Amino acid sequence: MIQPRDSLATGLNLHSRIHPLRGFGDGTIYIKREDELSAGVTGTKLRKYLSILPAIEARGIDRVVMIGSARSNNLVGLGQLLVERGIAVEAFIKRPGDPTPTGNLLFLRMLLPPEAIHLVAPEEWGAVNARAAAHARRLESRGGRVLVVPEGGDCREALPGILTLAGDLLRNEHESGIRFDDIWIDSGTGISAIGLLLGLRLHQPHPRRLHITLIAGDREAFMERYRRFEHWCATLHGGPLPDPGLEPHFHRPASAASFGSVNACVLEETHRIAREAGILVDPVYSAKHLYTVRQQLRAHPPNRPQLVIYGGGPLGLCGFQSRLAPGLGSAPGNPETLKPSSERKP
Ligand SMILES: *Cc1c(COP(=O)(O)O)cnc(C)c1O
Repeated sequence: MIQPRDSLATGLNLHSRIHPLRGFGDGTIYIKREDELSAGVTGTKLRKYLSILPAIEARGIDRVVMIGSARSNNLVGLGQLLVERGIAVEAFIKRPGDPTPTGNLLFLRMLLPPEAIHLVAPEEWGAVNARAAAHARRLESRGGRVLVVPEGGDCREALPGILTLAGDLLRNEHESGIRFDDIWIDSGTGISAIGLLLGLRLHQPHPRRLHITLIAGDREAFMERYRRFEHWCATLHGGPLPDPGLEPHFHRPASAASFGSVNACVLEETHRIAREAGILVDPVYSAKHLYTVRQQLRAHPPNRPQLVIYGGGPLGLCGFQSRLAPGLGSAPGNPETLKPSSERKP
């Protein structure tokens, strides 16, 4: 049987609260605030690090090579925790179209000195894992111990950590006395959703619907990863897993479907959630996810409580300030004082 706590970093949060999501339905739509797990790490990503960090320590690794896009939440999140622990860290990033240091690229460059950031041309990105592995071998030949963390933290070491989402959700249910038959989560690499699926299977294999908004990737890529983690999970569990009991339902984003794209509709949703629900969500994942849930619930009004996982965090808004500003509207009565000084009348 898995004893996840033994392999989890101590001192990091694994509990997040739930509360009704205002502006969505009649008070029976709840949101799980994974953003509150950490101030600097984006939401559910912290759960991956809960077990990646102890694995690094247990193996005496002194240098980590991370892989990801220039705007990756994963690089900024893991980067902080590694620097904090005195573990050397380097990043292979896809060369961004716009090199302006804003949002996560600014944060990554604040955390890592220039020589620790390796730019990879977009046309060579397909070979990035091989390049990072070759770089790691070079470093190890000089006597270091190096771990390569693939894009999105997609590695076996993340497994015990990502399983904690299910246990925490069951705690929320127990404490609130509400049972959620439908759970809505978004997917980038899919690892967080996979952890939830496997964790629910391990803990409580009775039927629920898990709705997955495919922010990046497709159903096939998701299921391929799922089977890989399922195999690792069975090994960790020491035997076959309980029968699925959960069928994931996949949803394409209801607007701006291609990964990374943000349109007027998504920006409007970002503003709407701030004003109605009091939550500052990032446009790339969470506003798109919540908009998709909103549309689905409108099309199929639920008669049972629903739980939406918010796996993001407000740092994800930082790359979007100039695009969000025009949507503010002006304050009646005193619009002048809220305008930038350059636009104010003398
Ligand atoms: C990474 C991320 C996700 C998705 O996580 P995966 O485990 O890669 O599917 C969702 N929302 C935000 C804000 C993220 O940064």
